[in-house]
Amino acid sequence: MITRRVVLTGLTASVAVAGMSSRLAAANRLAVVATTGMIADTARRVGGDLVDVRALMGPGVDPHGYRQTRSDIVAMTRADLVLWHGLYLEAQMEAFFADLARSRQVVAVAEDLPRDLLLSHADYDGRFDPHVWMDPSIWTHVVTRIEQALTEALPESADTFAANAAAFRTELSALADYAFRVLEDVPLERRVLLTAHDAFGYFGKAYGFEVIGIQGISTESEAGLSRVSELVNLLVSRDIGAVFVETSVSDRNIRALIEGAASQGHDVSIGGALFSDAMGQDGTYEGTYLGMIDHNVTTIARALGAEAPERGRLGQLAAGS
Ligand code: ZN
Repeated sequence: MITRRVVLTGLTASVAVAGMSSRLAAANRLAVVATTGMIADTARRVGGDLVDVRALMGPGVDPHGYRQTRSDIVAMTRADLVLWHGLYLEAQMEAFFADLARSRQVVAVAEDLPRDLLLSHADYDGRFDPHVWMDPSIWTHVVTRIEQALTEALPESADTFAANAAAFRTELSALADYAFRVLEDVPLERRVLLTAHDAFGYFGKAYGFEVIGIQGISTESEAGLSRVSELVNLLVSRDIGAVFVETSVSDRNIRALIEGAASQGHDVSIGGALFSDAMGQDGTYEGTYLGMIDHNVTTIARALGAEAPERGRLGQLAAGS
């Protein structure tokens, strides 16, 4: 009888301890706020169970003109760590982050990339093209920067962050290999990527595509009528058969281009919708960094005449995407 009671007491005690430690773990999670979905997903991959990450900009949200909402401000002032992109992507929030950095750990994850990896752009005098997520091999540097920021915030978990970051970088390298393999199959004369705005410069550089955006590097600039008619002439003269819309930018200009080309007797189709500055829906494969890039690569390759698997690198893309 006595023995049994001891066993029961011991069991109750260990259940209580386990319950307490899981509550402690939840309370001890690092509260991280990230601006874009790409940064948030990367922070989740590197932070694993040790972080709670909130993305300010959801699917379809354009970062160039985004301004913080009241609930964003509340989340950021309560966060342990705030991650933003930098390189003038969040143009309307720069002053806010400079201010916030006085009281919070605030890190611009792309700001310190090696300068030789960055592209300049005629529209952006004295600045670099911010769309670095389009090349997974450049994004590996951002993974490392996020690993450093998390480690600084929670030094006792350095080993976990290092292991998670290494595993994610390995996946990025497999993704880059897939992209090279399927895009290499696009005939040379078809390697022209015409999209709503200039988000694909790093993609073009990595995979040997000429990229043309109707709007410039920021969606804040308006495309003039002369720009549209110049591009209609280019579509016709170079016999370009497919152009692409972007999920975070209006398709108005792309449709004007297609109509313009049609009026000159040249048929152009929409090659698909690409994720330029925002990922797909939360909870889907396209709503992750890996899925977003897989979708873009697979869609571009197939629309421009290459043989890429319909469901992408891992067979996980939504059917017909
Ligand atoms: Zn953009």
